[in-house]
This record gives sequence, C-alpha cells and structure tokens, in this order.
Amino acid sequence: MTNRVPFIAGNWKMNLDHQQGIALVQKLAWTLKDANFDYATAEVAVFPGFTSLRSIQTLIDADQFELKLGAQDISAHDSGAFTGEVSGLALKKLDVQYVLIGHSERRQLHNESDDVVRSKTAAAFKHGIVPVICVGETLEELESEGAAAVPVRQTLAALAEHESLGDFIIAYEPVWAIGTGQVATPEQAASVALKIRDAIRAEHGELADRVRILYGGSVKANNVAGFLRSPEVDGVLVGGASLDSEEFSGIARFQSHLAI
Ligand code: PEP
Repeated sequence: MTNRVPFIAGNWKMNLDHQQGIALVQKLAWTLKDANFDYATAEVAVFPGFTSLRSIQTLIDADQFELKLGAQDISAHDSGAFTGEVSGLALKKLDVQYVLIGHSERRQLHNESDDVVRSKTAAAFKHGIVPVICVGETLEELESEGAAAVPVRQTLAALAEHESLGDFIIAYEPVWAIGTGQVATPEQAASVALKIRDAIRAEHGELADRVRILYGGSVKANNVAGFLRSPEVDGVLVGGASLDSEEFSGIARFQSHLAI
C-alpha cells in the first residue's frame, strides 16, 4: 500500500477552443459532483491547449472546482527571442500546476531530444510547476530492446544534472499504444513502472518512493481499473477519452470499478 495519491490527467492535445474547453470542464465537474466523487481518492487534472488556459483557470477559480490545471509544454527559456514559445513564468502566472514534458508527439513530430526534455524539466522546477515527464518506447524499440529500456533511459536523462530535483511525475506511455486503441497489459505497465522506480532509486535515492508513475495509452473507463489495481501504477495519462466528460469522469472514478 502506498500513500501516493493517484493522478488522473487529461491531455486534450490540439483539440477544443476555449469555449468548448469551458463547456467540457463544467460538465466534468458537475458529473463528478453528481457521482459524489471524493477528490481525496484521486487528483484530477486537465491539460488544455495554451489558448484555453486563462479561461479554464478563471472557471476553476470562480466556481471553486477541485480540478487541477496543467499545460502541454513549457519553454526551456524564461523570456526573449523565442517566437511561439510559452515560458514557465507566464504559466505560473496562470496558476498552472503541472506541465507535460516530452510527450511522444513532441519527441517525434518536433524532434525534442532527451536534452531538450531535460532543459524543459529544469524550467518547470525553476518555476515551481510539476513536470509530468513522458517516456515510452516505439514498437521497433519494444521488439529490439524490450519494454523498459527506453523509458528508463529517457527518465534518467530527464533527471540528470539538476542542482536539485523538485516534485515530478513520470508518465510511461508506450508510443504504439497512444491513440491506437492498442493497450499495454496491466502487467507490462506495472513491470515497466517498477523498473523506472528502481532506476530512479538507484540514481536519486529514496525520493523514488514519492514519485507518481502513470500509465498512458488508449486508457478508457472500461480498462482503467486493470492498471490502477497494481500498487506500481499511480494514475493514468489520458488523451482521446479525456475529451468526453462522461468517459473521463468514469476514469477518475476508477475506484468504483476496482471492486468488480
Ligand atoms: C496521450 O496523448 O498521452 C494518450 C495517452 O492518448 P490516448 O489516450 O488517446 O491513447
């Protein structure tokens, strides 16, 4: 039994404008309220696109929703000639508490290297935003190196050479499972999470026991319980299913499926 509070994160990716985002968050909060959701059982966070952050922040604040707010990326720099980038300073000003770093779509489509991921992780630490560092293997890497090698390597690279480590979350997302409907087995997710935690412990000591390690990749309300049954998996990072308030609230209420 661990005392890590499960983290349920919805990555909206490049979907929804700010008005649609407001509607989704309202529906999500009301659905959870109607179901008497107990926020002590899980932290629930939404990760809208940049243009929706201010609206969602204002809504959460005004209606005192217990939902948490995350961004999908952060610049490694604080300010200056970096057209198109968004700094940790600006995110912090919007009360952003979490930030996705190194999502496989950014690694693959925007050529983000381990070094870039490490610099962005440093920026998040600097501004007191908790990085959700995404790691995971492609199908080719799974076949050539097994499931854990790449995620462990990416995790250690993101955590290397910081003066000190703030709080962080690792999201293990096999690339072949993202948006494909092809899900890792709960056993694979648990086994990779265990190896990631062991590797963090070997490099950085006991803080490993506090780190939440999530699974991501085609998670739905009807398969979430399998992952969260394992004490090694501390939550889920959800893409497509987080755009549907009923489905995402079903994922947040994973405790109610655990008994089944
Ligand atoms: C993701 O984008 O991080 C993700 C896991 O997507 P999906 O749930 O759609 O597979």
